[in-house]
Amino acid sequence: MAQIVITGAGPTGAALALLLVKRGIAVILIEAAKDFHRVFRGEGLMPSGLDALEQMGLSTILERIPHRQLDAWEFIVGGKWLFRVEEPMGADRPCTLVLQPPLLEAMIAQAQAYPGFEFIQGVSVKDLLWINHRVAGVTLGDGREISAELVIGTDGRNSVVRQRAGLQLVRQPKDVDILWFKLAASPRFAANNVFYSILNKDCGFSIFHGAEEGKLHLAWVMSADDRTDWKQTKWAEVFASLSPSWMAEHFRSHAGTIETPIRLSVVVGRCPSWYAPGVLLLGDAAHPMSPVRAQGINVALRDVIVAANHLVPLFHAEAGHEEIDAALSRIQAEREPEIIRAQQLQIEEAAQGEQLRKNALIRWLLIQLAPLVRKRIQQSWLKRQHEMRQGITQVHLTV
Ligand SMILES: Cc1cc2nc3c(=O)[nH]c(=O)nc-3n(C[C@H](O)[C@H](O)[C@H](O)COP(=O)(O)OP(=O)(O)OC[C@H]3O[C@@H](n4cnc5c(N)ncnc54)[C@H](O)[C@@H]3O)c2cc1C
Repeated sequence: MAQIVITGAGPTGAALALLLVKRGIAVILIEAAKDFHRVFRGEGLMPSGLDALEQMGLSTILERIPHRQLDAWEFIVGGKWLFRVEEPMGADRPCTLVLQPPLLEAMIAQAQAYPGFEFIQGVSVKDLLWINHRVAGVTLGDGREISAELVIGTDGRNSVVRQRAGLQLVRQPKDVDILWFKLAASPRFAANNVFYSILNKDCGFSIFHGAEEGKLHLAWVMSADDRTDWKQTKWAEVFASLSPSWMAEHFRSHAGTIETPIRLSVVVGRCPSWYAPGVLLLGDAAHPMSPVRAQGINVALRDVIVAANHLVPLFHAEAGHEEIDAALSRIQAEREPEIIRAQQLQIEEAAQGEQLRKNALIRWLLIQLAPLVRKRIQQSWLKRQHEMRQGITQVHLTV
């Protein structure tokens, strides 16, 4: 029997599997996708997430895989420049974009060096096995049954483990979707990687140079009920009409490189309980995060550290089911304050953006008053970023 079955090899599952097998705990990690390149995966790591990777001893992996630092953040509203903030904003390292597929592959390759690790890829977890009202393992899509002392659901925002365990997700009202584009980068971004947030008329998008060489990422915000036929839209013209002239020129001259976008549904929420007897949820499965200011991977990696701190001593001591189940509530209690606060800050930031996007009068006033209020707006934005970048509670790997 596996000591721990982990469902889903995103950043939460892959990092947790590696931490546990390195400490002598037998883990079976199950990933539905056949490879890591098919699913959309965010790239932004904040100083808190980079610190978590360092604590896990994974900083050297980062040096070997495609990554790119951000140099600054700039805001342009109604065609007028609002403010700019330089990285690293008082932190010890800048926000860094990291290509997730090679990061996940490298973590799994390291885990495979340990005899207690098994990776099952390309098969979904379909259900949970129960013995005497306690989760005792999982059933896979190919009919296999795998028993475990503990099942950890790290299968993301639509978690099957969460649903099968009967754990409720309280969702925040859904109002936006994101259209995610990639296109050829301009040399200007390669030299100075600014994360631009651009709001013009009632449209908004963000653009930056991703981790991959020569690729810009563009996230277009749309109302969840927007029925525009986005596949037919002439995007280069749309982007150009909202952008400063140098950027507009780039969109027009590189229109042919704009890849068909992926529509990403933004699910945000929190489970009142992250656990049931024999099962624990972590990362997006327990608290799906919005993309605003790249929080999800960072808080997920910090979940992993806290879970390892609690679980490793129990598994080393061959603790019984009661002791293991008691630790699950302590893991949630330690992580929940940071998640609640991070989601609150994301809501505030998104609400400000949406207010500006939807209200022409506020946009107009902001543009007129920009020279007078620029400094104050910049300060209030910076204040909120501190917690979102550095983390809200203390998280130290102790095992
Ligand atoms: C548009 C967008 C942009 C984002 N950008 C960023 C960003 O830049 N930085 C950041 O920190 N966060 C970002 N986020 C949030 C971030 O993507 C998530 O918070 C983060 O990926 C959570 O990691 P996870 O491992 O918990 O879940 P996931 O990354 O969703 O991984 C879950 C894994 O489980 C697998 N899986 C699912 N179901 C099953 C099953 N039944 N059986 C087996 N395997 C299964 C999936 O294939 C997947 O590999 C973004 C989110 C969105 C929507």
